[in-house]
Amino acid sequence: MAHCILRIAIDTPLNSLFDYGWPHEEGVPPAVGQLALVNFGRREVVGLIVEIAQETEVPADKLKNAIAVRSQLSPLSPQWLALAGFAADYYQRPLGEVALPGVPKNLRVSTTVALDRALKKMAKLPPPGDPAPVGMPPLNDEQGEAADAIGGAQGFTPLLLYGVTGSGKTEVYLQACAQVLARDPQAQILILVPEINLTPQLEGNIRARFPGLMLATLHSSLSEGERMLHWLAAHQGQARIVLGTRLAILASLPHLQLIVIDEEHDPSYKQQEGLRYSARDLAVWRARQLGIPIVLGSATPSLESWHHAFTGRYRKLELRERAVRDAVLPSVRLLDMERDKPKDGLTGGLLAALRLRLERGEQSLLFLNRRGYAPVITCEACGWISNCTRCTSFMVLHKPEHRLRCHHCSLELRIPRHCPTCGNVDLQPLGRGTQRFEEGLSAMFPDARILRIDADSTRKKGSAQEAFDTVHRGEVDILIGTQMVAKGHDFKKLTLVGILNPDTALFSQDYRASERLFAQLMQVAGRAGRAGLASEVLIQTRYAQHPLYAAVVRHDYDRFAMNLLEERHQAALPPYMYQALLRAEAPELATAIAFLEEARDMLPTDVVTINDPIPMTMTRVYNVDRAQLLVESPSRPALQAFLKEWLSLLRALKSRVRWSLEVDPLDI
Ligand SMILES: [Zn+2]
Ligand SMILES: [Zn+2]
Repeated sequence: MAHCILRIAIDTPLNSLFDYGWPHEEGVPPAVGQLALVNFGRREVVGLIVEIAQETEVPADKLKNAIAVRSQLSPLSPQWLALAGFAADYYQRPLGEVALPGVPKNLRVSTTVALDRALKKMAKLPPPGDPAPVGMPPLNDEQGEAADAIGGAQGFTPLLLYGVTGSGKTEVYLQACAQVLARDPQAQILILVPEINLTPQLEGNIRARFPGLMLATLHSSLSEGERMLHWLAAHQGQARIVLGTRLAILASLPHLQLIVIDEEHDPSYKQQEGLRYSARDLAVWRARQLGIPIVLGSATPSLESWHHAFTGRYRKLELRERAVRDAVLPSVRLLDMERDKPKDGLTGGLLAALRLRLERGEQSLLFLNRRGYAPVITCEACGWISNCTRCTSFMVLHKPEHRLRCHHCSLELRIPRHCPTCGNVDLQPLGRGTQRFEEGLSAMFPDARILRIDADSTRKKGSAQEAFDTVHRGEVDILIGTQMVAKGHDFKKLTLVGILNPDTALFSQDYRASERLFAQLMQVAGRAGRAGLASEVLIQTRYAQHPLYAAVVRHDYDRFAMNLLEERHQAALPPYMYQALLRAEAPELATAIAFLEEARDMLPTDVVTINDPIPMTMTRVYNVDRAQLLVESPSRPALQAFLKEWLSLLRALKSRVRWSLEVDPLDI
């Protein structure tokens, strides 16, 4: 095939398909799915060939020729192109903007030096060894049934693995993987986790179990060189297991036979900028397209998945027992802060429990989702408070660093010596963050070894791992931390979890807040008692009568989820409603609102509800005001059809307001 037209997707924010000529008579003709280097504007860029045509609407004198085709790399498969196409279509973005970021940066540069070097390196790799697992521990009955159901599933089979924390979900995944790998000598498996750096144990477990297989990881902390090698290993079928974060859902896996999504409820599966996709939802689509099983695992499934299990669309597999012999779920108790008045933020009940652990030489974990010393400082004389000058938020007091910091725009100031308004020198911190609890605990328990783990204490690369190792070695008596400590880790000597100040989420405007709070409480609670020691979870609250806490005390996610679903149904909220959010940003709020009002009135419709524009809860960030407009419909196809038409009108507006559209938003 000489003289053909290459239709090439390029990573641009607008329409992203462009035609180029390919006049070469000799050599292997280009194929769909290959990467090609082309002139675009004044730059040379790498695009993706999505179609080979004989004709083009571009006049002959305007048609440029492609410079080179990356023929040393096998083409991306039609299934992969279909996945990128679906994501582009569903999230209303141009194909090039979805497909190309899915390919490592080193493949998208004008030279092939890095690619050729990587391919040479890969060709020298030893051939894959024995896929047989080693050291398979026996499973309990529930685990065995679940592993067989996953490993033996044929065709598109979505399975919800609902198992309490510590019930051995990982072991179920590993043994199901072993079955799939044993059946098909080429089979590849994709395992997604919310945050790879917080779950290093899983990677170690997989490597130890399948020492003869190549495991590739894909996540954002790889160097570009590593990312290309790992991506190529997956693309060429050498890596049989790919373990990654949400971005790995776009990995090229020609022999994909099973997808595992661990902690499927975790919000980090949703990308919050650019292409705002849900890796979980794309994974389900990918499994359906390929006709393979997919397992979604969680102790607190998302209401979407719970709903699918309830209606029979997903098959539910349950693990009700903790896997370690004699390990029982921790007992959960509420500490009523109205009755047991806290001192330095800690109730008498919690202090007594801490003291007991110190006497017994056991570990305690205090969980608080607020870093810094105090969320705000204030002048009691005139009422001044430390607002951020650029955001609708407070400057947080960071006492050890002698700074006020805005957690939204990163503005940093020295702590003022006196009130900027009235000169009063007695400025008071209000509220408590992890640093302040750490200070109070050190004063109350001077002999205890106390360690704080949060984003501030672990800024240095590798310091988080170092901190966790210290805990694992038993060199810490009281660990205090943010959500960083809630995930994945298996602390053997931990028998007490104290949860400080979870109440704010109960009254959030965000209708998903209670679902998230429940998941978070169960996850933190699950850190305790994993090694068989009797353990307890104490929750300090001013709302001890709240039904959410009652459900946590009973470990009763089933009923909690059914009640929430009923509420969502009544209120016509997801998963009974499909939503999209148009956001606008401008230096002045009025400009953003005016843009959204124009958008609201642009395309009259009966099948989609278009709400009025409102300022976002946190209106101003870094001197930009933000507003949003919610559109919704009980019919997903109706919403999709509306969005397509609406977006073409919005793009034609050429407004100077920055705007973006998010389909299935999580934060409203
Ligand atoms: Zn003052
Ligand atoms: Zn700020």
